[in-house]
Amino acid sequence: MSAITLNDLINNLKIYNSEEIDIVTKAYFFAEHYHQGQYRQSGEPYITHPLNVAYTLSLMHADRDTIIAGLLHDLLEDTKVTKEEIEHEFNPTIAKLVLGVTKISKQIIESKDERNYANTRKLIMGISSDVRIIIIKLADRLHNMRTLEYKTISKQIENARETMEIFVPIAHLIGAYELKTELEDISFYYLNPKEYDKYFKERKTIQDNSEMLTKELLIKMERLLKDRKVPFAIKVKIKNIYGIYKSCLNGASLMSIHDLLALEIMVETVRDCYKTLGLLHQNYHSIDYDFRDYISLPKANMYQSLHTSVIAPSNRVIQARIRTFEMDKIAKFGLIAYWDKLKGDAKDAMQLDLENKFPFFRELAEIDSDSTSNEDFVNQVKGKLFSDKVTVYNSNGESIELPLGTTALQYIYYTWGDIGNSLVGVMINNKTSSFDSILKNGDTIKVLTDALSFSDKSSVLIKK
Ligand code: MN
Repeated sequence: MSAITLNDLINNLKIYNSEEIDIVTKAYFFAEHYHQGQYRQSGEPYITHPLNVAYTLSLMHADRDTIIAGLLHDLLEDTKVTKEEIEHEFNPTIAKLVLGVTKISKQIIESKDERNYANTRKLIMGISSDVRIIIIKLADRLHNMRTLEYKTISKQIENARETMEIFVPIAHLIGAYELKTELEDISFYYLNPKEYDKYFKERKTIQDNSEMLTKELLIKMERLLKDRKVPFAIKVKIKNIYGIYKSCLNGASLMSIHDLLALEIMVETVRDCYKTLGLLHQNYHSIDYDFRDYISLPKANMYQSLHTSVIAPSNRVIQARIRTFEMDKIAKFGLIAYWDKLKGDAKDAMQLDLENKFPFFRELAEIDSDSTSNEDFVNQVKGKLFSDKVTVYNSNGESIELPLGTTALQYIYYTWGDIGNSLVGVMINNKTSSFDSILKNGDTIKVLTDALSFSDKSSVLIKK
């Protein structure tokens, strides 16, 4: 993919918000001016980063203030621009959004860990005043993850872990499925390259065969819907790499994953959804226990669809998901789809939905007032949000929570930083183990270094 330019952003705006092109262009040059002389680790001028963030937001049809805040999002953190200047040049809402994604400076909190906790708390609490803050942050994180190859290994792992623990669950919570699955796969790539590679290849094979596997079903459904004059669109969907990995971890064989390969059928009305379901069940055997009606009972994150698994020719089980075109937008973007539906004027509707539909957000204020320390706050929130985790112990018996699928080597990078040459080996539950071992709940891990065998002293010696 070639690099995103200002023109690409403008072209997106033309689709849904052409009146705002001038002010967005002004914001771009404002940001470019102040980031002058700053570069990304990739060697590109810094402005490419905020531009990519704004571009992602424009794909979501974000409102003007959000797009502009995306362009300006790193100015308060990295340049001499002040909040007052942004207010003056643009407006107070944009200044507030930028402030919402700005990290607390080193001058205010010196300790890196403490600063991280404080930043996460600030970000999460920001959601309750304006959900757009977290959407900008998700777009920011997405671009940072896409360009993570330029960072050091320990930074890659730190970011991948944080993404899995905080940003993936938040994306899931607001129903932003496309964002969630991409963030998941990139994080998985850095946390467990070997397994990633394995499942990447498996998925590729399925992808290559998917046409063959779904062809009959696809053609027949197309014909049936055309005959009945139901306007529709059909596409074949394959589960993401981390999703496949997770299903296999639970003991499933690849081919038995019921939603590995899905046929997504979009129609205009709810009535047509049920009609399509009927057609499908008349023509194929369905598997009873796999039927779900998320149209009459939507998921907490607003997702709606009919799910059914049918036995396609050659005995393949294929999931069909039937939904309206509007439900499809929500399936991809969740809450973010409101921007499109309400033509930009969606902030209040998003905010209201968050408070009404997601118990988590109502609990936030309580967690906030209960938590005396930032660390406590972050741990409570993580516990509520994040379910894909394992708890392991270090040789001092202290528990550490890690994303599911973390290897011994990633654990070492995460807890010790880059210890490079002094690393000799690792023991899991008192057995010498390979660095590729995937950690399980309850494992106790000892790291062997050449400093002082594998005693706890060595960890004291080396750990910064
Ligand atoms: Mn940024």
